[in-house]
Amino acid sequence: MISGASMGLGLRLGDEKPVKTCPACLQEDIPEGASKCRYCGTEQLPVRVG
Ligand SMILES: [Zn+2]
Repeated sequence: MISGASMGLGLRLGDEKPVKTCPACLQEDIPEGASKCRYCGTEQLPVRVG
């Protein structure tokens, strides 16, 4: 069996989903398209990119 650690080698840089920081709890991995924070439930303003 191969340990799970080697599974991560398949990840590509630049393939990460865009994220934003929650202004309420400052979690930095809120998906950019989220309408509410997954941690504290604060409504997130939509972010426009481009
Ligand atoms: Zn939050």
